[in-house]
Amino acid sequence: MELLKKKIREEGIVLSEQVLKVDSFLNHQIDPVLMLEIGRTFAGLFADSDVTKVLTLESSGIAPAVMTALELKVNVIFARKRKSLTLRDGLFTEKVYSFTKQEESEVSVSGKFLSPGDRVLIVDDFLANGEAALAMARIAMQAQAEVAGIGIVIEKAFQPGGAKLREQGYRVESLARVASLGNGQVLFA
Ligand code: 5GP
Repeated sequence: MELLKKKIREEGIVLSEQVLKVDSFLNHQIDPVLMLEIGRTFAGLFADSDVTKVLTLESSGIAPAVMTALELKVNVIFARKRKSLTLRDGLFTEKVYSFTKQEESEVSVSGKFLSPGDRVLIVDDFLANGEAALAMARIAMQAQAEVAGIGIVIEKAFQPGGAKLREQGYRVESLARVASLGNGQVLFA
């Protein structure tokens, strides 16, 4: 997606050879016009996949997921990282190792919102090792729902997540694929 690549070129900050910071439009401040374009693009890519729910992880996945769900006219669920007092019973919970925080945590979705027969489109901001996407896929499995596909805003193609997910048979669509972050530069695949 050219608009997204332009934004990454202009505003992305290479923090290391592994980590890209995009807090001016995705991870802290949010550009809603770009998010709407992202949502439209995912909705177009998965138009024939009979998606019934969009599933993401709080918090950075929510903006692209909401725009995608708006275009597909389905609801969006975000897996919660902390169990709230109002979210206790009938939870689907999975462990996820956080790439950015380098620690394991649990994410949960209420059983009320995912059912057998649902076709789930997983949406996330970044793909690195695939841990977050796989945790969401396992949550869908717990609910006996099907994963219709995985939409990633920025895939770091030099990390193993994309290959891992595709080998497992998931359809993964990324809107920008980064080949490397060497020398403080973003190189696209
Ligand atoms: P994975 O679970 O695929 O290893 O990593 C994806 C998750 O880690 C995403 O949900 C995202 O929040 C975070 N993440 C991974 N790499 C980056 C990165 O380079 N920049 C930012 N801002 N977040 C990242």
